[in-house]
Amino acid sequence: VVILRFLGLGGWASNPFLGHVSILLESRYARVLVDAGEGVYTALRTCTPYDVNDLDYVVITHRHGDHILGIPTILQHSRRLGMRLKVVGLTDVYEAIADLLRGAGVPSHIGFVDFISIEGGGEAYLKDVRLSTIKSRHPIPTLSLRFDVNDKCVVYSSDTQPNPDLTAFARGCDVLIHEASADDEYSEEVHAYGHSTVGDAVKIAEDAGVKYLVLIHRHLKPLVIRSTKVPIVMVQKCDYLEI
Ligand SMILES: [Zn+2]
Repeated sequence: VVILRFLGLGGWASNPFLGHVSILLESRYARVLVDAGEGVYTALRTCTPYDVNDLDYVVITHRHGDHILGIPTILQHSRRLGMRLKVVGLTDVYEAIADLLRGAGVPSHIGFVDFISIEGGGEAYLKDVRLSTIKSRHPIPTLSLRFDVNDKCVVYSSDTQPNPDLTAFARGCDVLIHEASADDEYSEEVHAYGHSTVGDAVKIAEDAGVKYLVLIHRHLKPLVIRSTKVPIVMVQKCDYLEI
């Protein structure tokens, strides 16, 4: 069984009840925090029975604030608990974490990070979870992620313009977690900022033949979902899905 716990669902400017992007993926042997937006520590402690020392890995898709601003607080608790945090991401994510810690007045907290660098197209084994990546289409270097655990598979687009490469990447997976920054009527603006609409996410899900689509990185307005071939699971903050 794989459990996905949704700790935050909003983009940087979003309904405050959504929180900022963060998902906890649990397999039999591993707990992997995927992205760490602002407030992720509070969400971890209120939505799950876990603390920071229960996390085996943190995977960060890119250095934008809504995906990384929770890291300084997570590291403050690593220090409290006397543990090092394994962080997986692009090299510039490590630099961004170091910059954030300097800005927050705790530069030495970088010493609590064990960084595992991964490039687009790269793979890593996180205990019983096989992580593979492709480059997304976003203004800064960003990874889309695929997690394979036994015969279960989850793909997370992270922030991206519509990316046809995701179709093959997510082929036949159980769940596609795709960003949907707005409804289709705003597609021009959404694409210009390197993001996707509901319709873009649905097309990738249908073309890839996934079983379920979860919409994340939502904005201020509720999304309008029209009839789709792939069922959409509209999760709320603290919801979890068992696969
Ligand atoms: Zn972004």
